[in-house]
Amino acid sequence: MTLLEGCIGVEDLVLLEPLEQESLIKNLQLRYEKGEIYTYIGNVLVSVNPYQQLPIYGPEFIAKYCDYTFYELKPHIYALANVAYQSLRDQDQDQCILITGESGAGKTEASKLVMTYVAAVCGEGERVNSVKEQLLQSNPVLEAFGNAKTIRNNNSSRFGKYMDVEFDFKGSPLGGVITNYLLEKSRVVKHLEGERNFHIFYQLLAGADPQLLKALKLERDTNGYAYLNPGASRVNGMDDTANFKALQSAMTVIGFSKEEIRQVLEVVALVLKLGNVELADEFQANGVPASGIRDGKAELERALCSRTMETAKEKVVTALNVVQAQYARDALAKNVYSRLFNWLVNRINESIKVGTGEKRKVMGVLDIYGFEILEDNSFEQFVINYCNEKLQQVFIEITLKEEQEEYKREGIPWVKVDYFDNGIICNLIEHNQRGILAMLDEECLRPGMVSDSTFLAKLNQVFSKHDHYESKVTQNAQHQYDHSMGLSCFRICHYAGKVTYNVNSFIDKNNDLLFRDLSQAMWKAQHPLLRSLFPEGDPKQASLKRPPTAGVQFKGSVAILMKNLYSKRPNYIRCIKPNEHQQRGEFSSELVAIQARYLGLLENVRVRRAGYAYRQAYGSFLERYRLLSRSTWLRWDGGDREGVEKVLGELSVSSEEVAFGKTKIFIRSPKTLFYLEDQRRL
Ligand code: ATP
Ligand code: MG
Repeated sequence: MTLLEGCIGVEDLVLLEPLEQESLIKNLQLRYEKGEIYTYIGNVLVSVNPYQQLPIYGPEFIAKYCDYTFYELKPHIYALANVAYQSLRDQDQDQCILITGESGAGKTEASKLVMTYVAAVCGEGERVNSVKEQLLQSNPVLEAFGNAKTIRNNNSSRFGKYMDVEFDFKGSPLGGVITNYLLEKSRVVKHLEGERNFHIFYQLLAGADPQLLKALKLERDTNGYAYLNPGASRVNGMDDTANFKALQSAMTVIGFSKEEIRQVLEVVALVLKLGNVELADEFQANGVPASGIRDGKAELERALCSRTMETAKEKVVTALNVVQAQYARDALAKNVYSRLFNWLVNRINESIKVGTGEKRKVMGVLDIYGFEILEDNSFEQFVINYCNEKLQQVFIEITLKEEQEEYKREGIPWVKVDYFDNGIICNLIEHNQRGILAMLDEECLRPGMVSDSTFLAKLNQVFSKHDHYESKVTQNAQHQYDHSMGLSCFRICHYAGKVTYNVNSFIDKNNDLLFRDLSQAMWKAQHPLLRSLFPEGDPKQASLKRPPTAGVQFKGSVAILMKNLYSKRPNYIRCIKPNEHQQRGEFSSELVAIQARYLGLLENVRVRRAGYAYRQAYGSFLERYRLLSRSTWLRWDGGDREGVEKVLGELSVSSEEVAFGKTKIFIRSPKTLFYLEDQRRL
């Protein structure tokens, strides 16, 4: 590989000199401007979104990268995919590929590039090809239902995704399992101007033929639907009609029957129509303000306009006012949609699942939302950032452990590394009794007058002295005033920076309760899919047990994810968005600097080169530098290690600077490497 080419920066940030935030960004920029969007930090790949189709993908490049080892060619996502796949196949080592970065940084595109690469190199044959097809076709389905146009990204994934692809001992794919995290279901009922609802709604209206539209009792015009407004119905460069065809064909490839597809679309149509249900104030005879439903079936009407409270002895039915009824309607729409999404994931899993018994190797691909700091941060950002905090913890632990293990393998003494251990922040959030999530649950379950503010008061009391917790109250106690923080907020000092969260609706979002009347109405609707989405609506299912809270569920799935990741060899892809305008060729250093901090890039380089910045097998090192020594340049019959000793000895490289491992030479600082490179060029 070309280690250093002055004008395009270093290919591996480990070689950066001097190592500081500014030079790191400058290096990425230099490369970006030359069309080099990939850069390494050791075995971590940093990828800057090019916002244009670069001529560096496709079969020709795949063929090239699968023939070379990691450092022999330019940094590339194929090189990373290749290392991962080869170690899985040849060294029987389960792999995971962790892709992080903020919205629009290119995570989903990266995950598709990895999947296409692996699909291209992992064997042939009818059965294998059909498995590959199914795995790849899960993408358009999940994107139709889980992606939407946002201000940041025209095709933004509004859910987190982890996919295990399973292979047999020869490295041919057998199938897989998909796990989804936290769909942004609020989008079903509300989105910002300039954004859209989930793609599927527009795809259905644009792509359905007239008979289907009629059968679903839908109109083609998106303007007629409250849930699709406000906002443009079209997205530049996106063909909803064609995508609807692609969706149907993808569902067929995966194994959905015609009837299943039909039912799915019926549920989608139901959600759209729910948004148009008009609720108006009516005064009931007894003078209680209540909402009357103008259009709709009796059961649903009753469920949307009233609420039954059951006690041991009796049932009390209360009427809802308009605001409450609207709330109930939206809660129902969100619930139907998110349950449909979960059902789709399960249904896909059923098709791609691998029979038990066979021993398999696994490659996991994680495409999950990066660290988020918005203007207004709520419960969603809180859990997303918690997940990122956990991922950072895995990252540091595994990177350090891997370094340590390599040193041990090579017989080199370990050098202690100072780094920030974010365990304390993870604990603040997830501790079983005294973590913020546990306290939120306690508040949700406590009888009596609970509210977001009683929750906040509790946090303030318990964490007043915590180093990573701040609020107006704790600040006042310490006589510090920060006017940017409201009274209903608390702030957490995350590894990536401080984030202020507003507690409004934390309780509600964590509870995530659906009135029983609504689940019962759904269950009673004579629709097999709808019924299966609301099993608790079955009147025979008398259990009043409450479902786990959103926080508990999320924490549980993060714990499973972590366990899964720890059992595999990680491969990291750090995605960066170069500008806010989805524009090619524009590189905003400020924006990139913020992301570099959230991604912990500098810390990554520091940890990575804490001991030795550079290491190379004796053979390849000698190959490159043998011309620098009189003893080795013409011919060398001795061992590789002795050859390397000769070269370094003749150049008087200080013994402090190098360490001789069992199979590799280790070089402490990039300067020494630059010196060697300069000598080569003379
Ligand atoms: P979100 O968190 O919102 O889902 P993301 O990180 O998944 O964002 P992507 O959807 O992968 O972002 O990328 C956004 C857009 O950037 C893509 O639709 C595509 O236009 C462009 N893009 C990303 N990566 C590449 C690439 N390697 N080559 C060309 N274009 C790319
Ligand atoms: Mg995405």
